Amino acid sequence: MKITRVKAHPMSMKLDKVYWTSRAPWGTYNTIVVEVETDEGITGIGTINKTPLKDIADITDSLEPVIKGMDALAHEAVWDRIFNLTVPHIEQGQTNVTRPIFDQNKRVFIMAALAGIDLALWDIKGKALKLPMWRLLGGNRREVPAYASGGYYEEGRSPLAVIDEMAGYAAQGYTAVKMKCGGANIEGDIARISGVRKAIGDKASLMIDANGAYTLRDAERAIKAFEPYDIFWFEEPLHWYDATRGLGRLAACTNVPLASGESEIHFNAVRDQIDLGGIRYVQWDCTRAGGLTEGLRIAAYAMAHGVQIAYHHDPQIHGHLMAAQPHGYCVESFPSVPRDPFWHQVLTQKPKLEAGKLTLDDEPGFGIDIDWKMVERWKI
Ligand SMILES: [Mg+2]
Repeated sequence: MKITRVKAHPMSMKLDKVYWTSRAPWGTYNTIVVEVETDEGITGIGTINKTPLKDIADITDSLEPVIKGMDALAHEAVWDRIFNLTVPHIEQGQTNVTRPIFDQNKRVFIMAALAGIDLALWDIKGKALKLPMWRLLGGNRREVPAYASGGYYEEGRSPLAVIDEMAGYAAQGYTAVKMKCGGANIEGDIARISGVRKAIGDKASLMIDANGAYTLRDAERAIKAFEPYDIFWFEEPLHWYDATRGLGRLAACTNVPLASGESEIHFNAVRDQIDLGGIRYVQWDCTRAGGLTEGLRIAAYAMAHGVQIAYHHDPQIHGHLMAAQPHGYCVESFPSVPRDPFWHQVLTQKPKLEAGKLTLDDEPGFGIDIDWKMVERWKI
């Protein structure tokens, strides 16, 4: 089965309001749907959850001639060919260069394009074999725990509105919830976190996500202040430039498990966060870089080091991996309809998400289908 076509569909959906993480506003849901077609009539669908949309979509489309004619089931060979574009080997004076040459600063875009293409190839594999991904990967359970993610600093609302929001998820039946931190000063966040803990009760798990808000010194102070509220994990606490050894120093001064990985773009970075950063949960995102192929390598490394995987975002992709891995802990889900229009409006076929539980079905591949009218409506 040969690859015949690669097409990226970038789309940007305006959200109902502006959501703030610790330091950055977020008012649009941006994603790229990738189609890979084959000469046997099977089309695979992948998604890329990464910006800038146009640059990544253009690079994805430009990879068509690079992989056209390759075996669509040979995902490792395709992965290798695309990845090698990030480490070009061109001799001086060589004139027969047939592959595109990208600047170093395009590496992150190539890794994102690779994610979308790789996921589409896995989708093709599942469709060709008529197997849902969770079974293709060797899973024997179709249900995966899901936690409710939210708790942003929303424009026009009190920072304490998070208390009612989290209590609402708990009332729906979620036994694990996640909220943002680091967008207020420590006293302000103590008020939010302590209020949420009181509202959701002692038994529910409470994760906090700083989105890289703190210096090491500030993160140490913050986690000491938050520890009394029984924090399940402390996610991406440190500024990006210190998110390896700095994590290791932070891990040594708190009993709260650290979680990280969603911002990394290759295996080696996550390996170092496990080896040197002391993280206890890996949050790799197969839709941001490297695809499922890289996600499986990371899962294997995590297992060998006693670290659990709780991959970031996109439960329609990561739910399959969690179901197939003994150390797959849970998937992230966004119960808020306005916060996640892709899940709630664009995906017309997907796993079933109920409070605290994602149930996978027997549709082949990732088992997703797309409302193409929405893709057209929101295309950039
Ligand atoms: Mg996060």
